[in-house]
Amino acid sequence: MENAINFNEINIDSKPPEDEPARQYYFMAKCRQYVKAESERLGRPLTAAVITFGCQMNARDSEKLSGILESIGYLPAEDENADFVIYNTCTVRDNANQRVYGRLGHINSLKKKNHHMKVALCGCMMQELSVIEKIKKSYRFVDLVFGTHNIYKFAELLAEMFDSGDICGTHSGGQNASHRIIIDIWENTDKIVEDLPVERKYPFKSGINIMFGCDNFCSYCIVPYVRGRERSRSPEDILREISALARDGVAEVMLLGQNVNSYGKTLENPITFAQLLREVEQIEGIERIRFMTSHPKDLSDELIAVMKESKKICRHLHLPLQSGSTRILTAMNRRYTKEQYLALAEKIRREIPDISITTDIIVGFPGEEPADVDETIDVIKKVQYDNAFTFIYSKRTGTPAAAMAETMAGTPEENLEREMMVKEGFDRLLKVVQDTARQRVARLEGQILDALVEEVNEQDSRLLTGRLSNNTIVHFPGDKSLIGRIVPVYLKECHGFYYLGEKR
Ligand code: SF4
Repeated sequence: MENAINFNEINIDSKPPEDEPARQYYFMAKCRQYVKAESERLGRPLTAAVITFGCQMNARDSEKLSGILESIGYLPAEDENADFVIYNTCTVRDNANQRVYGRLGHINSLKKKNHHMKVALCGCMMQELSVIEKIKKSYRFVDLVFGTHNIYKFAELLAEMFDSGDICGTHSGGQNASHRIIIDIWENTDKIVEDLPVERKYPFKSGINIMFGCDNFCSYCIVPYVRGRERSRSPEDILREISALARDGVAEVMLLGQNVNSYGKTLENPITFAQLLREVEQIEGIERIRFMTSHPKDLSDELIAVMKESKKICRHLHLPLQSGSTRILTAMNRRYTKEQYLALAEKIRREIPDISITTDIIVGFPGEEPADVDETIDVIKKVQYDNAFTFIYSKRTGTPAAAMAETMAGTPEENLEREMMVKEGFDRLLKVVQDTARQRVARLEGQILDALVEEVNEQDSRLLTGRLSNNTIVHFPGDKSLIGRIVPVYLKECHGFYYLGEKR
């Protein structure tokens, strides 16, 4: 675990410190007592499940939540059959919220059987007022709700939850009207707290938040409203964290931010993302560096040059296109044109020929016509993506695009006709994506390339699964002692988006 703590040095009979992270350590020490007492009462260790929805940012936040839960004495559980369940939610689409409500229905029945069970909700969905109102009205068995800005306060909130009384004997199960849901949502903050415990999913690779929030306000996206304005961590803190990870055996790091290309602009002493990458490269033990996500409008020549020269930065760039039609890009507030995107992709391919480029594409944005889809298909053919994540536009309440969709809505017949048109455009585009990606990925057949071995193959335990620098997956026979190592693999057969190979 990162940042393990010596709890014997913390005096919980004193007042909580004001400074962070000491304050959170103090509350972790307090929580340990509650967990220990409940565990003794039940005659077994307590378990906790952190269930994650959504993006890499949420996955990293969940590692932080797991780190705190394990520090205070919970054992990890794989599913909701646990003493503590926390849903780290996503709200990028309206139906993401419905999935969480569905899971809560199931949790309610579990909690009725296990009155000591605790349930918490956090993440982007909790930043919406309407969600909080719904939880207060219809999901009164929930114990704790917090948002995206105060995740570092998790231990303090847990201590408040335990103090509120339902644990160790007085078990109402939270089903009665007097059950107090602890709700702590902040609208926005610049506060970034360092050095809290983190439980990593993989011992050999790790995500690192380099910034939080987003200032771009793409018209379909809720992120700037729920994750707040852009703020960068200091380079010193980032480098210190990565150095500690390297000492702990981590070989691959993924630098995370909604738009890493604008990293450092809000710092007192601004630095560029490319400069940060140069510093990360110097850290001994780190063999691979990835990053996610890059907004095309902010991708600089300096970054291309650093990637080109680097032996450690992986040969993969995720460069979200969203649409190939300048008219739709303008409506999306993406702030680049089709021509600018194509020129950028061409420059990247010219400077770093072995790079793989992947992208995100939305089909059916309000007002999009078949001719706009043709423009997107044109970009796909020209850029030759190694993969593309394609989505049919789904209205996200609270965004400008949702208001556009409502204004443009027609009669039920017209809406049905539009739905069919969107589906037809999507199928057409998906076929081009799949055909070009297959050809692109197959170009490596017969080569020997390094793969970081990540795990035993889920379908066939005789195979290991590794990842090439360009993010392509390769499965090959091997012993699980290779997990975490970078090994040369002969890419024998391409199967669409992955390879079967042999270790060399
Ligand atoms: S860059 Fe656009 S799509 Fe990405 S998080 Fe920011 S607003 Fe959302």
